[in-house]
Amino acid sequence: MGHIGQSREYAGVPALGGASREGVLVYGHANGATIEETAAAVSEYVRLGYRAVRAQSGVPGLATTYGVGRGKMYYEPAEKGLPQEAVWSTERYLGSVPPLFARLRQDFGPDLHFLHDAHHRLTPIEAARLGKDLEPYRLFWLEDLVPSELQESFRLIRRHTTTPLAVGEVFSGIHDCELLIREQLIDYIRSTVAHAGGITHLRKIATFAEMYHVRTGCHGATDLSPVCMAAALHFDLSVHNFGIQEYMRHTDDTDRVFPHHYRFEDGLMHPGDAPGLGVDIDEGLAATYPYERAYLPTNRKTDGTVHSW
Ligand SMILES: [Mg+2]
Repeated sequence: MGHIGQSREYAGVPALGGASREGVLVYGHANGATIEETAAAVSEYVRLGYRAVRAQSGVPGLATTYGVGRGKMYYEPAEKGLPQEAVWSTERYLGSVPPLFARLRQDFGPDLHFLHDAHHRLTPIEAARLGKDLEPYRLFWLEDLVPSELQESFRLIRRHTTTPLAVGEVFSGIHDCELLIREQLIDYIRSTVAHAGGITHLRKIATFAEMYHVRTGCHGATDLSPVCMAAALHFDLSVHNFGIQEYMRHTDDTDRVFPHHYRFEDGLMHPGDAPGLGVDIDEGLAATYPYERAYLPTNRKTDGTVHSW
């Protein structure tokens, strides 16, 4: 993500000048095995000052569900050792999500922003049904509804629902989302600095999206380091059509390896005024953490058919 960050660091100023806003709206991840547990996790984020929360809950009848893992503030979907196998039922999932958001709206009122991720597991018509069912709960966005390689499939979803749509964490450049943006099939583009060509290319995507009323919503999972988080925050602060930034907190161990100037306050992130990206890497400390093998799970339907994870 090199040149902009580096040259600005030599100049003694932050990576991108010209802030468009006071701070960067971020969302955290609230997870629970049951609706009750997820509601309690949302309460914790509200207590910390978050204004936006992604909510995922276990699906009754399934042992494990995407987005619901070990850990609360430091949820990490990859498990140590060889891949574990999860079981999936679209039917049960589609029945379980609307009651979750009915409960959350009832508990938290109309102002808290809620987001949800379907992790590319639905067909377009299933996705359309979910979007329609969730309309009364006014989600900030519904993310990754279908495998997004087939951009045209979003036409069908769009025809059926006004729930805002987000996609793009797996995209690596503007041509992966050109049709989605030009036809206004999505509301938020989730490409991020480390995956989509660095700050320079991501700004190109944002500028293109701005013409079509599509806003940004950078992926910010913990497989992206604090270096990427800092770069994303500078980007977020500068672009006019910023929407929201995902913020999965790194563990204290990770934060110590990457000393940084960005901070969270009252629901917003601030990249700070340090030169460049405002983040460093303590290589000596990093060397004290040996590599540990970890995998995301594989996924099968209840009849044994392999399904995308
Ligand atoms: Mg996603």
